Amino acid sequence: MKKKLLYSLVALVIIYGLVTLIVPPIIEKGMNLVEYTIPRQINSEAQTLYNSLDFIADLHCDALLWDRDLTKKVDYSHVDFPRMQEADMALQAFTIVTKSPKGQNFQRNSADALDKITLLNFVQGRSPSKWFSLYERAEYQARALSQYPERYNGNFILVKSRKDLKYLIDSKKVNTKVIGGFLGIEGAHCLEGKLENVQKLYDEGVRMMAPTHFFDNELGGSAHGISGKGLTDFGKAVINEMNRLGMIIDLSHISPKMIDDILDQSTRPVLVSHTGVRGTKDSPRNLSNAHVKKIAELDGLIGIAFFKGAIDGEIKDIVEAMKYIRDLVGIRHVALGSDFDGAATTPIDVTGLPLIVQELMNQGFTKMEIRAIMGENVKRFLMEHLPSK
Ligand SMILES: [Zn+2]
Repeated sequence: MKKKLLYSLVALVIIYGLVTLIVPPIIEKGMNLVEYTIPRQINSEAQTLYNSLDFIADLHCDALLWDRDLTKKVDYSHVDFPRMQEADMALQAFTIVTKSPKGQNFQRNSADALDKITLLNFVQGRSPSKWFSLYERAEYQARALSQYPERYNGNFILVKSRKDLKYLIDSKKVNTKVIGGFLGIEGAHCLEGKLENVQKLYDEGVRMMAPTHFFDNELGGSAHGISGKGLTDFGKAVINEMNRLGMIIDLSHISPKMIDDILDQSTRPVLVSHTGVRGTKDSPRNLSNAHVKKIAELDGLIGIAFFKGAIDGEIKDIVEAMKYIRDLVGIRHVALGSDFDGAATTPIDVTGLPLIVQELMNQGFTKMEIRAIMGENVKRFLMEHLPSK
């Protein structure tokens, strides 16, 4: 009887081990799709301009959610380090997702819905503490990225300060293989309602945070939640703490009321890491003209996302949203905010970025404007707003 029990236990452990090896890539392959694969037609003028860019940056990707070794190139999903090098990318924001409600949609999600990430972390073989603690999930992903500078033989730089950013820029001039990343968070429910966790996550290297994700939380209402609330008292305290530490506030996914509250309260410029604009696609996911104007007045930055929902789904739609912001408030406020590996389908992976340049040229953007969108605006913003060292 005891032997039988032991055999069953061993069999269960083996099956679980196999599940953790086999299932996560299957899930990821089905979720991070590229709509238009090869052949991609890129004209020589666009490629030449792309090759001349010396700082390409993107404000949002969720690659840390998936259990993938980012130092290895794979033939699915959107981002890994070898493909960043192929695209000659300088800096990618790696954002941490800790909870995702079942049936996730842009209209209405309950915080009490079944959390899909609990199941994902289970099949990924992450330890039981990550199945239940949102804070530990965030800490785990932050530490995962923090290991890469050593694991990638110094070719990956984790940017936590202006000094690191300067080091990245200087290193890239002598070694084009060098790439960089910085850490953000999607949804401050991972603070688990504790103000001191802002400092703890800052100490783990996090430099950007969006107060809510798909559902309302302790800080206030999500754009896709139920309450539509603005900042709560706890939310206000978190914004003050982020301002104090120099952690950048990301307005993606939050309710219109909360955007107003934060724009009224924050003493520092904000950004929107991945969004569209209602002017080209009327969706609760996207920014109104009034918000675009107010963010620009405060010298903020708006990253345009690549997925259907923020835009209509094609490269020309991404560029149209960029054009809309440029015409409304100026080129200084436009950036890339792909949402690569964010469980969404995008028209390109990171190696397809030259196609964005080509479309920007087609739609009449000047070389200076293209440089600004492709990375110079992000560089300037971070040089002004990251902690000095
Ligand atoms: Zn998002």
